[in-house]
Amino acid sequence: MRVDVISIFPDYFAPLDLSLIGKARASGTLDLAVHDLRTWTHDVHRTVDDTPYGGGPGMVMRPEPWGAALDAVAPVPADGSPPHLLVPSPVGRRFTQAFAYELAAQPHLVFACGRYEGIDQRVLDHAATRMPVTEVSLGDYVLFGGEVAVIVILEAVTRLLPGVLGNAGSLDEESHAHGLLEAPVYTKPPAWRGHDVPAILRSGDHGRIARWRRDEALLRTANRRPDMLAALPPGTLDKRDVAT
Ligand code: SAM
Repeated sequence: MRVDVISIFPDYFAPLDLSLIGKARASGTLDLAVHDLRTWTHDVHRTVDDTPYGGGPGMVMRPEPWGAALDAVAPVPADGSPPHLLVPSPVGRRFTQAFAYELAAQPHLVFACGRYEGIDQRVLDHAATRMPVTEVSLGDYVLFGGEVAVIVILEAVTRLLPGVLGNAGSLDEESHAHGLLEAPVYTKPPAWRGHDVPAILRSGDHGRIARWRRDEALLRTANRRPDMLAALPPGTLDKRDVAT
C-alpha cells in the first residue's frame, strides 16, 4: 500500500519508523512518504495560514499551498484510479475498525493534516472533483492537528495488511473484529498477588476454552458496550450464546 502524508510538522511521524509499522515500511508492505506542506509556499516566511473570512478567532490554512501539494503528491493518473484523499477532522466520518478494513483494501491513500482552524473548504471541494475525499474523525473531541489522527489511522490500517502480523489469527479474535470485545487474556505465572488464572484456561480442553472465551466476550460486551451487542446483525448469536 502506498501512503502519502502532507503536514507542516513532518517530524511528528518519526515514530512510524518503530516497531511493526517500521518493519512494514522496511519490507515495502507500507510505502510511506511524508511531505512538508511548506515545500509548496513561495514567500520568505513560508506562510500556510491567514485570517478567516467573516472574522472570528484563529487562522485558516490557505488553499494555494494545499492545491500545489495535492497536484504534486496526488496527481490523477491518465489510466488507473486516483488515490483516496483522507482529511482528519472532527466533522468527519467516525473512524472504526470496519473503516480501517475498507482503507486497508485501497492501493493509495493521501492524508492532508489540518492545523489551526482547519483547511480552506475549497481545497476539499476542488480535490473532490478529481478523487474520492473523506473527512475522518477519531472521535468527538478536538485535537491540535491532524498528525496524531493519521498515526492512529495508519497503525490500525497497517496491522490489517497481509504479512504484517506474525499470526494473522490475532485479527480474527480481537475486539471489534466481529462486533464484540475480546475476552480477558492471561499469561504466566498461574498465580500472582492472590489472583489466579481461570482454571479452564489451563485445562487443555480447547473446546471448553473457546466456549469460555466466547462467553466472556459476550459478558464484557454486554456490560461495557451494550450498544455493540444491540447492533449485532441478526444470526450473529447462536443458541448456545443465548443460553449463557
Ligand atoms: N475548527 C475545527 C472545528 O471546530 O471543527 C477544529 C480544528 S482543530 C483545532 C485542527 C485540526 O486538528 C483539524 O483540522 C484536524 O486536522 C485535526 N483534528 C482535530 N480534532 C480531530 C478529530 N477529532 N479527529 C480527527 N482530526 C482532528
